[in-house]
Amino acid sequence: MSLDHRLSPELEELRRTVEEFAHDVVAPKIGDFYERHEFPYEIVREMGRMGLFGLPFPEEYGGMGGDYLALGIALEELARVDSSVAITLEAGVSLGAMPIHLFGTEEQKREWLPRLCSGEILGAFGLTEPDGGSDAGATRTTARLDPETDEWVINGSKCFITNSGTDITGLVTVTAVTGRTPDGKPQISAIIVPSGTPGFTVAAPYSKVGWNASDTRELSFSDVRVPAANLLGEEGRGYAQFLRILDEGRIAIAALATGLAQGCVDESVKYAKERHAFGRPIGANQAIQFKIADMEMKAHTARLAWRDAASRLVSGEPFKKEAALAKLYSSTIAVDNARDATQVHGGYGFMNEYPVARMWRDSKILEIGEGTSEVQRMLIARELGLVG
Ligand SMILES: Cc1cc2nc3c(=O)[nH]c(=O)nc-3n(C[C@H](O)[C@H](O)[C@H](O)COP(=O)(O)OP(=O)(O)OC[C@H]3O[C@@H](n4cnc5c(N)ncnc54)[C@H](O)[C@@H]3O)c2cc1C
Repeated sequence: MSLDHRLSPELEELRRTVEEFAHDVVAPKIGDFYERHEFPYEIVREMGRMGLFGLPFPEEYGGMGGDYLALGIALEELARVDSSVAITLEAGVSLGAMPIHLFGTEEQKREWLPRLCSGEILGAFGLTEPDGGSDAGATRTTARLDPETDEWVINGSKCFITNSGTDITGLVTVTAVTGRTPDGKPQISAIIVPSGTPGFTVAAPYSKVGWNASDTRELSFSDVRVPAANLLGEEGRGYAQFLRILDEGRIAIAALATGLAQGCVDESVKYAKERHAFGRPIGANQAIQFKIADMEMKAHTARLAWRDAASRLVSGEPFKKEAALAKLYSSTIAVDNARDATQVHGGYGFMNEYPVARMWRDSKILEIGEGTSEVQRMLIARELGLVG
């Protein structure tokens, strides 16, 4: 019998490689991109060259042959330094490429995965609509099959879609109502829409509170025509498919949140040693020491939670509850740690040139994206057999 939460030598090597990259390449440059609200193409290109976008995909499609643990390790290390690049990777892999890997036909995989894995193109996932995010079953976007041309004709809109409007975005998978069950319930399907398809319009980037070097847009579809073969998975199975995608994605967001929480510890330890007040480092005060000790406790616990959920996923066990727990806990403590790290930094913590200011701005969305904290609680309660 054994229980070992430590990383294998391969995962430790990956962790170290990404840690170095985040420290040497991302950290010196990302603040300027963030201030300019600019997508960091050169950094993303480098992440592609390192194989990060292909981490959990098979080598035959251009991937690295890893799994969700490998992806989580990379996300955690990136987010220790910056969340915009981490979410670009998370959305590109978990939301952009994973649906094609899990539900695509052989032809769809061969067409899209190699370029998604290399980072040559980015994929996006359009589920949320202006009238409904948590209640994703309330999708209003429609797609009807035109029997004459054998094409889907898509109409509607999506909002808050990550990676959807960059110069290298290649596709958006959108959910749309394609029919009704005999009792009138909408049947939702997922359809691949290549960027640049006529009638598919991408709005200007939102002005956001955080994640300012990542790409988030509103999309509209006006009689957008794509071949019938762009259906992803079975017709009417789109709802079940995206629930699976979101279950997995929660582990990735939990790893990202853990990274942000750990980054807050890293920055606070450094600052507490450097900054002097009343003739000694502020870190000599027990009030500061205890604050940072609590931050470390939370980051460590969050790490155990996401790794547990990822291990279950990788070994084919049920992981829904553990993924929701990990996402709920890690996003909550990421916000806590960002607030406390800002406090440790005093007035400088409120200045954008300090990484903790960026972490503070980037933390809040973690309690909202890929299922709000309330939705995680609903999922956990349901798994406990509590039905409303
Ligand atoms: C920066 C950013 C990037 C994003 N990227 C993507 C993306 O790539 N693809 C995509 O599809 N979406 C994306 N989203 C959307 C995101 O997943 C949704 O915003 C989120 O799921 C919440 O949906 P909503 O905004 O419609 O809020 P709502 O569903 O309107 O919820 C509003 C509030 O009500 C609460 N609430 C709702 N229902 C209940 C209930 N039954 N019980 C208790 N409380 C409830 C919610 O928890 C929340 O606090 C992104 C969002 C942001 C901000």
